[in-house]
Amino acid sequence: MSKTKSNILLIYTGGTIGMVKEFKTGVLKAFDFKTLLEKIPELQLLDCNIDTISFKNPIDSSNMNLQYWVQMVEIIEVNYNDFDGFVILHGSDTMSYTASALSFMLENLAKPVVFTGSQLPIGDLRTDAKENLITAVQVASMQIKGKPAVKEVCLYFEYKLYRANRTTKINAENFQAFASLNYPDLAESGVYLKINNEHLLKPNTRKKLVINKKLDDNIALIKLFPGINKAVFESVFNIPNLKALIIETYGSGNCTTEKWFIDMLQEKISDGIYIINITQCSGGSVVMGNYETSSKLKKIGVISGKDITTEAAIAKLMYLLGLNISGKVFKTMYEASLRGEIT
Ligand code: ASP
Repeated sequence: MSKTKSNILLIYTGGTIGMVKEFKTGVLKAFDFKTLLEKIPELQLLDCNIDTISFKNPIDSSNMNLQYWVQMVEIIEVNYNDFDGFVILHGSDTMSYTASALSFMLENLAKPVVFTGSQLPIGDLRTDAKENLITAVQVASMQIKGKPAVKEVCLYFEYKLYRANRTTKINAENFQAFASLNYPDLAESGVYLKINNEHLLKPNTRKKLVINKKLDDNIALIKLFPGINKAVFESVFNIPNLKALIIETYGSGNCTTEKWFIDMLQEKISDGIYIINITQCSGGSVVMGNYETSSKLKKIGVISGKDITTEAAIAKLMYLLGLNISGKVFKTMYEASLRGEIT
């Protein structure tokens, strides 16, 4: 492999981006990634070498799970020293969950891991796949003084590069499928590819990459709505081995002050179950204590997710539970920014 050009590993996990429509039948079929350079000759114009690796059985990302996340980090682990950047092709449906999870699993990451996908298959006439793929590779191969320009897990879609753990899929049909409402874009692609350096993560590159593969899925998520039945909470708290519950509350972290609700949470917290408060608003932050309807939560020891997305809240919870740390450290770490996921 060349020493002067960036070496990029393209990892195909599945999703629409890797599909081609059979001309005669119109049926969507998985694309053979070994022929990628033939199918998208534009990639050869980029100043980098591209190697590809594909999941043996590419999946629709709705079937994503923790084993696949481990599979992805293992591919990066094995190839970390040989490549300057990684591009992961992934279905858009759960891309923000996977990309958030990888941001926690890859500790001290000093190279770019760029997720991308598309709304239309790569073989479609009006596809958004080509631009997404080409620019994602370009971002992954950018260097400053021989070092990768981007050193974090990010997501490129429709002319914008985002911090991955700040994103949410917001639209099922627009080409602009993702948004990052609580953090500015890392880059914008127009006539020039404009990197917003001040918003990039600046990790300590002297630290060695640590791969965290132990995630704990003994968690649950409830979205509050007016009139939510007590039995819903009772049944969730009856789940064997439940270790933590994320509650999507209203506005800046507000919830009902009904006695049964607060008492139940207090009892569970004293049993050692973590309760995390995140907002069901797409933008903005939980600020417990701002209103009477959230100050009780603060008093009983509910953890604030601040302005974290639901996707990152889940990934961070699985990751921190996997570390087996004390309750006090857990709360401190959850409320701190570990990978730029909260402000
Ligand atoms: N259902 C597809 C997936 O997430 C949609 C896409 O690829 O964007 O795998």
